Amino acid sequence: VLNGKVALITGSTSGIGLATAHVLAEQGCHLLLHGLMNEAEGQALAAEFAGQYGIKTFFSNADLREMDSIHQFMAEGAQALGDIDILINNAGIQHTETVAAFPPEKWNDIIAINLSSAFHTIQQALPAMAQKRWGRIINIASVHGLVASVNKAAYCAAKHGIIGLTKVVALECAEQGITANAICPGWVDTPLINKQIEAIASSRNLSRSDARYQLITAKQPLPEMLDPRQIGEFVLFLCSDAARGITGAALTMDGGWTAQ
Ligand code: NAD
Repeated sequence: VLNGKVALITGSTSGIGLATAHVLAEQGCHLLLHGLMNEAEGQALAAEFAGQYGIKTFFSNADLREMDSIHQFMAEGAQALGDIDILINNAGIQHTETVAAFPPEKWNDIIAINLSSAFHTIQQALPAMAQKRWGRIINIASVHGLVASVNKAAYCAAKHGIIGLTKVVALECAEQGITANAICPGWVDTPLINKQIEAIASSRNLSRSDARYQLITAKQPLPEMLDPRQIGEFVLFLCSDAARGITGAALTMDGGWTAQ
């Protein structure tokens, strides 16, 4: 069913976005790949996907902190591949520090990348989806869109915000064949969390693997990290016809984290 659909995945050069790109490519989706990678590496990645899966691809390394760059790369991508059917707002960054010490410029970056960019991509993608009367918007939020942790003010604010945005989009689009949902993962094995593991290892004088284990089990009952591909498979289900009744939801995949 997804064969020939056009998907934009922000932050698909790494981690969850990259794994999701593979899952959708396997279904025959054309891909707008995006992330902070130099142009040559990005073009090579796009060519690799095109060759491996026989799909059309487009790459952009637009900085999501800039609205004009977002508008430009989406317009170029749509010109190259066709209108976007599946929009996955996945790009995100983290910075951990107490509120008192949190650098305001980090706050601004996190709100821009983890929250505002999704508003801009959704705003631009909606008219074509409404016209086709089909669309899937999936925002990769976090358990931190539902509950808080210390030292994550900007991240929690952005992730709570993107769940609110998801709900409004779902309500506004409910009669247009467009669903909007947020996925709220617990710990996922990606480069995003390296700094947090390193901080625990150095402050508690632990090996990297012990620090990793402590980080996971401090809050997540399932004592292992999710594989990024598991998030991709969840995205795939939300894109399916079977999931057309799921909209405006914040869906956890968190190893029991928010069950407590
Ligand atoms: P990652 O660091 O592996 O990938 C992040 C992606 O975002 C990269 O492609 C990067 O290039 C892109 N990006 C970062 N800043 C950007 C900018 N200014 N402009 C354009 N692109 C930019 O991280 P990940 O873990 O795969 O994270 C993906 C999403 O999943 C994020 O929104 C993150 O908050 C969320 N998430 C991650 C975890 C986890 O444990 N890893 C848990 C819950 C939610």
